[in-house]
Amino acid sequence: SLTVGVLSIQGDVQENVLSAKSAIDELGLDGNVVDVRTPEEISQLDGLIIPGGESTTIGHLSLVNGSQKVMKEKIQSGMPVLGICAGMIMLSNTAKDRIVGKTDQPLLDILDIKLERNSFGRQKESFESNISMDSINIPKFNGVFIRAPSVSDVGSDVEVLSKFNERIVAVKKGNVIGTAFHPELTKDTALHKYFINLVNTSKN
Ligand code: GLN
Repeated sequence: SLTVGVLSIQGDVQENVLSAKSAIDELGLDGNVVDVRTPEEISQLDGLIIPGGESTTIGHLSLVNGSQKVMKEKIQSGMPVLGICAGMIMLSNTAKDRIVGKTDQPLLDILDIKLERNSFGRQKESFESNISMDSINIPKFNGVFIRAPSVSDVGSDVEVLSKFNERIVAVKKGNVIGTAFHPELTKDTALHKYFINLVNTSKN
């Protein structure tokens, strides 16, 4: 049975718990989804979702309670992770804010990407648009962008999954997926299903 966690420090946790549960059900797999915040809870997981929210808050609090260290170790040893918006920022190795410039925030330093926070502007510039992730067989997906980051460049080991207006909005490196948009805020569970399949494959 799969145990999938949603990091529950700050951000939209419940929406991801529900999407991941639906994905497990739709795939006919056996598993449960739990919200996690302590190092002990995280160490039990087969897969982790880092939700959207405020990356500075998630970064500082996860550093203080020791969960950042365990997340990094687990991810580096192959646990699949889906980082959404602030979660993708957490996975990055550099994060510059379009509005306030360079920020000194704790990051997991997993993905070699050049990332810009709040890349599309402030809250009121949030938007939805169709995007495609052809290489993982999701040709059409409703991208919900809320104070979203974007990626301008990726290291040679990072695959670009999707672009919107010339900007990279989804990336993958092995067991690690990052999206600038929020798949948990749409009814379409395609991306969560893709992630759950990754978790299932890496466990077997
Ligand atoms: N702008 C937020 C940040 O930089 C991310 C927003 C989101 O997760 N929806 O952390």
